[in-house]
Amino acid sequence: MLPEKILNVLKSILPQTKGPISLHEPCFAGNEWKYVKECLDTGWVSSVGKFVDRFENMLAEYTGAKRAVAMVNGTAALYIALKYAGVSPNDEVLLPALTFVATANAVSYCQAVPHFVDSEENTLGMAPYKLFDYLKKHVEIRKSGCYNPKTGRRIKAVIPMHTFGHPVDLDPLFEVCQSFHLEMVEDAAESVGSFYKKKHTGNWGKLSLFSFNGNKIITTGGGGAIITNDESLAEMAKHLTTTAKVPHKWEFYHDQHGYNFRMPNINAAMGCAQLEQLPIFLEKKRCLAEHYRHAFKDIDGIDFFTEPDFAQSNYWLNTLLLNETSAHEKDTVLEITNNHGIQTRPSWTLMHKLPMYQDCPRMDLSVAENLETRLINIPSSARLGEPYAEA
Ligand SMILES: *Cc1c(COP(=O)(O)O)cnc(C)c1O
Repeated sequence: MLPEKILNVLKSILPQTKGPISLHEPCFAGNEWKYVKECLDTGWVSSVGKFVDRFENMLAEYTGAKRAVAMVNGTAALYIALKYAGVSPNDEVLLPALTFVATANAVSYCQAVPHFVDSEENTLGMAPYKLFDYLKKHVEIRKSGCYNPKTGRRIKAVIPMHTFGHPVDLDPLFEVCQSFHLEMVEDAAESVGSFYKKKHTGNWGKLSLFSFNGNKIITTGGGGAIITNDESLAEMAKHLTTTAKVPHKWEFYHDQHGYNFRMPNINAAMGCAQLEQLPIFLEKKRCLAEHYRHAFKDIDGIDFFTEPDFAQSNYWLNTLLLNETSAHEKDTVLEITNNHGIQTRPSWTLMHKLPMYQDCPRMDLSVAENLETRLINIPSSARLGEPYAEA
């Protein structure tokens, strides 16, 4: 029986512990205590302190982007990124139906309307060629941009998302954006440490965002950041998210409707310590993925998802895809593994099936709908990954 076989493979790879093994847990084995203690000792826990600048500089250096702007969480960062990509009320924004709800929510915060795009099986992300064909058939290019004649709304931007850390096929998506006068904003929330053709994800969007929520590959407790190669956009984003206060020794003067979205110093302190350890996390996660790949190779009815060949993935969440013929066993697999203390999880419910997004425009979503019936995430914490023992 397939569900038992999957359980046995997981048991053979995962450590035998008393407590349950969670899908993804953080690891604090570096300078977290030291840096956080420094914040407490100096009293600089909030909006003043050196760690925010340091974290932003480390992020920019690691990703190769010109600038990073740290924020309270990834959703807020995406909202601000969309604003600076020019998304305005009553615009439409293209995004995958297979994503975490935050991607669609950030579009709603702009009073814009999500327009759902299908995925492809080799990346689990947005399907560039299918999107191109769809736009070619269904949109009109006018002086002021790309329009959806069915709704009369302008389509302003595209949000590719790197599903479970696996880079989406960015080059053809970038070309689609060029052809149809669309801005790209990458939802790179899950892809810190993931590279597309040797360059870090997040560098294709006009602005892109990361999340440092507790379940992501590195965490600041809660947190996020925008990265961009446009200095002036970075400056504006920093200003807007720090209450739009004009710097002055004592005066409080704000020049627009700003947001209090800055990342507190104490969270940035954690972020610095976490980013220092990212290379170790990546190595361990790739080891774990390699163990899984090897162990699931000979099991019929299931595939372990591996990175597309143009990508170096962070393997944030490891993924099993049941075959068409075994898809009906998905719930049994979820039940038996969770009952045995091994946390597994199905796909997010597709966005167009959620009550607040069910009436949004969308293309044919058959691949995403099919993936939703077959996808299972399995334990992926860095601590679970150890190199093969020397023979
Ligand atoms: C985690 C996540 C976000 C949101 O990040 P938060 O920090 O939780 O607000 C956005 N998009 C995707 C795809 C995510 O996985």
